Amino acid sequence: MTTGIIYDPIYLEHRIGQHVESHERLIAIIEYLKEKQILDDPNFKLIKPRSATLEQIKYVHTEALINEIKEISKIADLTGKIQNLDMDTSVSAKTYDASLFSVGGNLEAIDRILNGDITNAFSIVRPPGHHSRKNRCSGFCIFNNIAITAEYLLREKEFKKVAIIDWDCHHGDGTQEIFYQGSSSEKGDVIFFSSHQDGRTLYPGSGFINEIGKGKGEGKIINYPMPPKAADDVLMIFFEEIIKPILFEFKPDFILISAGFDTHWTDRLTNMGWTYQAPALFLEKIMTIAKDIVKNRIAITLEGGYEIDKQAIAVYNCLRVLNNEKQKIIEEKPRTSDETLLNYINTKLIPNMRTKLSPYWNCF
Ligand SMILES: [Zn+2]
Repeated sequence: MTTGIIYDPIYLEHRIGQHVESHERLIAIIEYLKEKQILDDPNFKLIKPRSATLEQIKYVHTEALINEIKEISKIADLTGKIQNLDMDTSVSAKTYDASLFSVGGNLEAIDRILNGDITNAFSIVRPPGHHSRKNRCSGFCIFNNIAITAEYLLREKEFKKVAIIDWDCHHGDGTQEIFYQGSSSEKGDVIFFSSHQDGRTLYPGSGFINEIGKGKGEGKIINYPMPPKAADDVLMIFFEEIIKPILFEFKPDFILISAGFDTHWTDRLTNMGWTYQAPALFLEKIMTIAKDIVKNRIAITLEGGYEIDKQAIAVYNCLRVLNNEKQKIIEEKPRTSDETLLNYINTKLIPNMRTKLSPYWNCF
């Protein structure tokens, strides 16, 4: 099997000054992968992205938003000054181009998986995307990479069902909004799982268990708000109790993952308790069922992660797991959640989620 790594220096050109979502994040990942000699390993294939087309960006975004990003990038170019879309989200001269390639990297990954060139893929891209809505960019995100990729699978690749799993520490509010009433294409279905730090304690303040979708999307938006300090064990409970039974029932054709690494216990923007092996161990669980239900078709896209050394290790670990080499992952001392927190998850959060979702899923 071969794991694709999609990367290009164009992603460094979204250069937004002194910002936590810095180009240094990707430099650190690539340097670490070089150090670990993954890029020379024949089981991995470094793949160049392409630019997404405007038609593809319009699968989820308004033309007005696309034009706005293009215009603001032009202003940044003409003035030589970084422009701000909001308090968090900045645009440089090359942001528009980098954003098209950020989406296009994910689309290239899909094509390579489908033509058998690679088995699965990790797109190491930026700007990230999961906070971007139909008509508004926010939270360091420009175009919603994962949402466009899901629509690409439905509209251009004739798949009927796509599952998105978002493990970034922040709620994927943009992806949720885009699919709240299901796919706009009417060509198929999208299910969205988001695990994140409880919105009462972290940006963007949403992602509660009563947000379950509407119309065609009803029952297909599944939020798992974790209390601060939740460790790896809390994530694994989400998989066993909610994700696994629903995926077996939903039977997706493809699994897409919004992979943020800002859940690490040291991350400067968040308050979670995950180790840097947690995402890889979670991915391994996803892969065990992906074998049966999606013929191993998994594509991962990078979202957040602000402790760049920890993120680099976590990305490396995920690549090893994608390539069935769990024994090669790098682990730090395991962390567990305290008893009160675990008790809340097992006796309140999970039962409440199952009750809310039971009208839509036979497994509950
Ligand atoms: Zn995040």
